[in-house]
Amino acid sequence: MNAREMSRNIRRVAMIPAVGFALLCVFLGYWQVYKAPELRADEYNTRARDRLAKIEPGRVLDSGGAPLLGTSREGGKWQRTYPEGESVCHITGYNDRSGVQKSLRDALLGIGRYESPWAEFAEGPTRGNDVTLTVDLDAQEIGTRLLRGERGAVVALDARTGAVLALVSAPGYEPEGLVDSEWDFQMFQNDPGKPEIDRALQGVYPPGSVMKILTAAAVMDLGRVDRETEFECDGEYEIDGATITCPRAHGTVTLDEALQVSCNTTFARLGRYIAADEFVDYMNRFHLLGGADLPLPSSKGRVGDFTGANRDVLLAESLFGQGETLVTPLAIARMTLAIAHGGTVLAPYLVERISAPSGASLYAAQPKELGQAVSAETAASVAGMMANVVEEGTGGVVALSGVDVAAKTGSAENPHGQAHSWFTAFAPADNPQVVVTVVVENAGAGSEAAGPIVRQMLVYLLGNTGAI
Ligand SMILES: [Zn+2]
Repeated sequence: MNAREMSRNIRRVAMIPAVGFALLCVFLGYWQVYKAPELRADEYNTRARDRLAKIEPGRVLDSGGAPLLGTSREGGKWQRTYPEGESVCHITGYNDRSGVQKSLRDALLGIGRYESPWAEFAEGPTRGNDVTLTVDLDAQEIGTRLLRGERGAVVALDARTGAVLALVSAPGYEPEGLVDSEWDFQMFQNDPGKPEIDRALQGVYPPGSVMKILTAAAVMDLGRVDRETEFECDGEYEIDGATITCPRAHGTVTLDEALQVSCNTTFARLGRYIAADEFVDYMNRFHLLGGADLPLPSSKGRVGDFTGANRDVLLAESLFGQGETLVTPLAIARMTLAIAHGGTVLAPYLVERISAPSGASLYAAQPKELGQAVSAETAASVAGMMANVVEEGTGGVVALSGVDVAAKTGSAENPHGQAHSWFTAFAPADNPQVVVTVVVENAGAGSEAAGPIVRQMLVYLLGNTGAI
């Protein structure tokens, strides 16, 4: 071994502790800095839980800045209070494992991906971030009052952006009572009205005649019929041994008139113009069967299996909203919005912005398009037909002076008693600003139970936009 080889070996040996030290730095850095926010946010880490209780949670505000959740401090720990009670209960939830308290927890506590990796050196955050929602507290209160004593839901969307303006489910509950009383919590959990379920997002219902909006859009978009195509309704339509009926014979009707009077036999006959897979394709284009994709629990819809022996009957029934189709109120509102928005499906959203305690903006919502369900021309035709439903047809209950409203009624037959009352609308018809969809369970015709609720919501929301 010569001197040069010797010095090379010495350098190699000297490298070993240096490399080891570097690895140790990387390892410690990984856990102490990079992974630290995640470890501290882990709610099963009891030390972390104690630490989280010391963070003042950020505010949850409505679109106008009204607080939907409050805070109080006891024994050095922060707790939530519920100043607006039932009117926003499905949004706020009733503890840190429900509502936006669960889904927006990291933002509200300034932890996880909302925490600076260097927060460890400053004992972590002491105050969380403020979250401003898109909902309007007054609209929530009006919807809650109008649904009092019923089971059902109200969904209101901004027709220009997809922002959720109201999301009400009845029956609701008083979150504060559930926090304070074990007895109340037991009653709540065993309530046959299932107040915990957010019917606006989790309720699945047969759509009834509000489905005729989608069916009319699909057959016109395929170019197989238009508004003026004529059909004959003698009150009954026989298909494969099944009989589809209307309350009376509507006589000769155009597709436009068939929507106005909600003629079932005409829409069942459209099965000759559209195949089952095309119909399902349009349901998917309208995202009719998709979840809400909001920071709250939601259900998906479902549609029958069109491969069985009774497929023609099932398709005929599905085209006017019966069959085996089930949808959420949010999905019907999203479909209505697509018609109002030139055929483009917009993603509903609930969070308008997230702001740090310093006031710095951490997130600001941007409207998001999910795709084109039908052409702008088709959407304009359907919108015109829906305006006629209010002007000439079954939707007169939502007519307003000075503003044209476009709408569709529905009465969805179901195995649980009287039909569910549906009503979906947008306004102004020629310059849509708001969409309102209402379902009232087992309440009969859409024009009777759901219609007046839609009307009052429209009056309030259009007052806000300055349209009336
Ligand atoms: Zn008819």
